[in-house]
Amino acid sequence: MATRYVYDFDEPTTGGRELLGGKGIGLAEMTAMGVPVPAGFTITTDACRAALVKRDLPDGLEDEIDEHVSRLEQRAGKRFGSDDDPLLVSVRSGAAVSMPGMMDTILNLGLNDEAAAGLGVRTGNARFAFDSYRRLIQMFGEVVEGIDGHRFESALASLKDQRGVQQDTELTPEDLQELVGTFKAIYLEETGGAFPTGAREQLLRAVRAVFESWDNPRAQVYRRAHGISDELGTAVNVVQMVFGNKGARSGTGVAFTRNPSTGESGLYGEFLADAQGEDVVAGIRTPQPIETMRESLPKAFDQLLDTMRRLEEHYRDMQDIEFTVEDERLYLLQTRSAKRTAAAALKAAVSMVDEGLISREDAVARIDPAQLDQLLHPMIDPSAALDVAAKGLNASPGAASGGIVFTAESAVDRAKSGPVILVSWETSPDDIQGMIAAQGILTVHGGMTSHAAVVARGMGKPCVAGCDDLTLGDGKATIGGHSLREGDVITIDGGTGRVFIGEVPLVPPQINEDFETILTWADQQRRLAVRANADNPEDAVRAREFGAQGIGLCRTEHMFFGDRLPVVQEMILADSESGRRAALDRLLPFQQSDFEGIFEAMAGLPVTIRLLDPPLHEFLPDESEATDEKLRARIRALRESNPMLGTRGCRLGLMFPEIYEMQVRAIARAARAVRERTGGAPLVEVMHPLVGFREELARLRDLTESVWAEEAPEIAHLVGTMIEVPRAALRADEIAEVADFFSFGTNDLTQTTLAFSRDDAEGKFLTRYLEDGVLERNPFESIDIDGVGDLMRIGVERGRATKADIKLGICGEHGGDPRSIAFCHSLGLDYVSCSPFRVPLARLAAAQAALAESGAGAYAAAGG
Ligand code: PEP
Ligand code: MG
Repeated sequence: MATRYVYDFDEPTTGGRELLGGKGIGLAEMTAMGVPVPAGFTITTDACRAALVKRDLPDGLEDEIDEHVSRLEQRAGKRFGSDDDPLLVSVRSGAAVSMPGMMDTILNLGLNDEAAAGLGVRTGNARFAFDSYRRLIQMFGEVVEGIDGHRFESALASLKDQRGVQQDTELTPEDLQELVGTFKAIYLEETGGAFPTGAREQLLRAVRAVFESWDNPRAQVYRRAHGISDELGTAVNVVQMVFGNKGARSGTGVAFTRNPSTGESGLYGEFLADAQGEDVVAGIRTPQPIETMRESLPKAFDQLLDTMRRLEEHYRDMQDIEFTVEDERLYLLQTRSAKRTAAAALKAAVSMVDEGLISREDAVARIDPAQLDQLLHPMIDPSAALDVAAKGLNASPGAASGGIVFTAESAVDRAKSGPVILVSWETSPDDIQGMIAAQGILTVHGGMTSHAAVVARGMGKPCVAGCDDLTLGDGKATIGGHSLREGDVITIDGGTGRVFIGEVPLVPPQINEDFETILTWADQQRRLAVRANADNPEDAVRAREFGAQGIGLCRTEHMFFGDRLPVVQEMILADSESGRRAALDRLLPFQQSDFEGIFEAMAGLPVTIRLLDPPLHEFLPDESEATDEKLRARIRALRESNPMLGTRGCRLGLMFPEIYEMQVRAIARAARAVRERTGGAPLVEVMHPLVGFREELARLRDLTESVWAEEAPEIAHLVGTMIEVPRAALRADEIAEVADFFSFGTNDLTQTTLAFSRDDAEGKFLTRYLEDGVLERNPFESIDIDGVGDLMRIGVERGRATKADIKLGICGEHGGDPRSIAFCHSLGLDYVSCSPFRVPLARLAAAQAALAESGAGAYAAAGG
């Protein structure tokens, strides 16, 4: 049987969101729930994929569309293409994953000169008929023919000028009819052909254009920025038109079931009377708070409240809806799970548990760990007295400082040399690249649901929208009386809507109560322990505050810089072992006191200390900066062609055992001192880097044990190794004979497995690989599960075959990446270790991995 491509909203399918797209599945589910939704049908993502391959509509699709249009005509009692009472439809794209404003919509298909006149007569509202018609020509021209929207906008603006009116709604029917003529002339001039009058032709060309829009540059950029696969394709929804532009008893709006910025309960949204679809989202006219509907359209308002409550109960999640009121009748056009800030996600989840809507597992499962990053960045000191230059809407929280830029192109350009804030009237999907490049966004127009606000929240970037105290023009911005040019620095606070001139000092983030609650629930679910990578007592304290259960990696080389560097250099320059030992003796007390501070901060929790790893030349200046010949000679002697593969890690420890001896001695003495001072012995794990051969670790273990026996024989400790070269993973069975623990060093393991030097890959060929889709994700950020992951699996299996209870962890940067954490859970590691600021995120991701494994906490998000 040929593939079926079209389903009415009330026809059952098994394809779900993947097949119908987010909007399509939302419309189908709302129809099934009995929510008022206009009739219509969905053309599936299968059709889109087939069309993109064939570069034309797939066989049979046109017939199917005709058949569903006839059904729609029967239901509506109107004919598509009729002159006197036409059925009009909209065509709306809708991929499986939400991509706000990234693809295209066309409204009012089915109109031409005769039909517009007929519609005017039939509805007794010629104004409405011609307004709808001119919108069709504009949207069709933009989406199908790629005509620049400004051409239509400026024709509309100049007509309003001529008539001396401010609002579109003040134009007369005759004005709008004249505008239709102007728009048709623009269309003809731009395309060389007349605007198509046939309803069927309009529809088929619109469907084609929406399919093609899947591959337009802004959609591609958006997908890349959000890690959405190019393979999904979009569905197309053909929906019977309902009209918000029929006068004061009609309108259109968007609403959230809770505040998308804070998560607080209560209706939240915006409404524009006598307007159609895109007017609200495009941020062109600043809409009214939704509460105004209570007065102006009380019946529809009550129905809206009731419907939103039902939708939230059905989806058990915060919804974001689009609706239209036509002559006081409410229609829902879309529902989807609402994009929200991290703070809102936490508050909404905790409240929904309190309200009995979802379980604690659900709450933990549905918070996006990557999004929590937003809350773990520095913020403006709430207690600081600051001069506020302007105030706008708090559209997306967080603080950002940067030089101002007025265009997306300039944002991309200037962001290369420092942070920028994009300042504009409003943003449109074409600005996506500039929004990605900017640290924050400030707009004159637009509300909480404008393009700028929605996209910024999705990206976790600060945004202040609808800032009336801001004016733009002549390459200048005036903010609360200050005149600024491109490059001048401002700070925006998207959490309060405040704008400041210049840079404002920031304070470290804090974990609020909702965050604590969710993390406590997460801790009850997870199996993986979470440790932190910390090299000093301050980081250790911070990590502990964030819930770290120990230190998984303390890199000791960081203790070799600063005022210790001259002594380190003296050690490196010494001609003999005794000379080196003399310098090392002077370093020892420094190291010991570092370790004491860390042990005290981590009292009762394990601390893994890694011995010196980098090649010695890193501690010497560049040859050109060397002051004497001896130093120059030593620098030359230490030079290596591939230092990453040279004398570093345990190789250094075997070449210069006195260095590791000093370090072990400092660790053991620190452990002893802390035990004497506090009564509790630190839980020390001594870790050797870059081991590939059993013999390397065997010798270093002997060294460690003999020094330890001299210094702190009564204090228990472990000796282990990083697994960060492929040979170590492959020979993990032998290495486990002499190791108490393994910690996967996935930074080096990735470099050595892929033969990619990180410094030579990122920003160069790896960036290209990612752009061209050779690789789906950066293997330095998220574990290359198929390659590096396979070696880890082998390391775990072989290590455990020798020593069933060998302790296993990961301390590469991947330890803070949710996807990699899920993989570590599946390998059965004991812990992940990541930077202190990522500890909360890792706690949540570890819980989600456990929940996903048990099948608990899964839920189907709505719409999209
Ligand atoms: C690693 O290689 O993963 C690791 C943690 O060590 P470093 O990043 O210090 O080389
Ligand atoms: Mg390493």
